[in-house]
Amino acid sequence: MKNGQCPKCGSKEVYSGADIPLKSGPFGSNAIPVTLVSIAAMDNYVCVDCGLVESYIEDSAKLKDIAKEWKKISPAGGQ
Ligand SMILES: [Zn+2]
Repeated sequence: MKNGQCPKCGSKEVYSGADIPLKSGPFGSNAIPVTLVSIAAMDNYVCVDCGLVESYIEDSAKLKDIAKEWKKISPAGGQ
């Protein structure tokens, strides 16, 4: 998706909201909770042909926090 092509329908009409102002959204609506005191804003990529949305966190410090604080998912079969 970040390369400008939709992985679902193959369209090249992909737009990025990575640089929009106030991208964490009103009341953090475009952000996800990382810890009790921390949220991470998301960069959204939208295909305007099929409507697919992909969201990425750009802030590497938040990604490190997630790796530290969140539960890791084991690959399938590893319950
Ligand atoms: Zn698409």
